[in-house]
Amino acid sequence: MNLFFLARRFVAGVDVESAIRVVRGLNQKGVRATLDLLGENVRDRAQAEKAVEAYGHLLEQIATSGIESDISVKLTQLGLDISESFCEANMERLLARATACGNFVWIDMEGSAYTQRTLDLFVRLVRAHPNVGVAIQAYLYRSEHDVRRLADLGARVRLCKGAYKEPKTIAYRRMRDIRRNFLRLAEILLERGREPAIATHDDHLIEAVKRWTAERGIGPERFEFQMLYGIRPRAQEALAQAGYRVRVYVPFGTHWFPYLSRRLRERKENVWFVVRNLFEWSRP
Ligand SMILES: Cc1cc2nc3c(=O)[nH]c(=O)nc-3n(C[C@H](O)[C@H](O)[C@H](O)COP(=O)(O)OP(=O)(O)OC[C@H]3O[C@@H](n4cnc5c(N)ncnc54)[C@H](O)[C@@H]3O)c2cc1C
Repeated sequence: MNLFFLARRFVAGVDVESAIRVVRGLNQKGVRATLDLLGENVRDRAQAEKAVEAYGHLLEQIATSGIESDISVKLTQLGLDISESFCEANMERLLARATACGNFVWIDMEGSAYTQRTLDLFVRLVRAHPNVGVAIQAYLYRSEHDVRRLADLGARVRLCKGAYKEPKTIAYRRMRDIRRNFLRLAEILLERGREPAIATHDDHLIEAVKRWTAERGIGPERFEFQMLYGIRPRAQEALAQAGYRVRVYVPFGTHWFPYLSRRLRERKENVWFVVRNLFEWSRP
């Protein structure tokens, strides 16, 4: 049974053609994209290598189709659970393809079991490859230290709140605290970082960043707002029309379930959206 219709609000499609079609539509509205071929926690070497190949092919399709999009990967999709050196070799191969295509690769940040290993690997990669960036989660207490270090290295950072369930020993849990830390980290990145990405749909944070940058003469070309496909599309367009750089993260592929679960967990109303779809689908 194909249950993809449950995910279709948040996932561009199961194949690359659908994803490219979605990106074209976004580009026409002045919005760039980040394509994410869904997959995580791969335990099989051949499967991780297949993901590298698929991403390499995707980079070529982006170049030939002329769409404005970079890509994002998860290290556990490229074999981090198998071995760090295997994953690093896969990333090296992918970054060489991205360089040949004149493109950029983001590394998503996964649950806290992977934070240190992701950053260690990232720091090794970024020394040789300026076309790689990494996501940092504002809910983690450690992130201010990480953000300062990454800014010193001249690395690109995508700042987000964080989407995994983490214990209070390592992460802020109250929205007020997460927002406060997000703004603190955003200020560091906007002041000293390289083209940071402010990845949120939260108006409170978006307005604060707009105000803060305007007051300090930091122009909209120095950073970008990023949002997720299917979430607040009108706000995405409005920001682009107001002259801000906007990039939308567009996931696609058949491994959509963990991604959908994270979107449902962060917003309970979405559960009803999915249940309604299921109900409509099951009607005679
Ligand atoms: C481009 C991008 C990349 C990301 N990469 C990572 C990553 O690598 N690692 C990671 O842990 N997390 C990542 N995230 C997810 C992020 O950490 C948050 O879980 C997610 O963005 C929700 O937080 P928020 O800042 O939008 O604020 P929220 O307070 O959750 O939301 C603010 C408003 O946005 C809208 N909204 C937010 N979420 C939803 C939703 N699911 N459905 C419908 N409306 C919604 C609602 O209007 C809500 O009131 C990424 C997010 C973005 C935008």
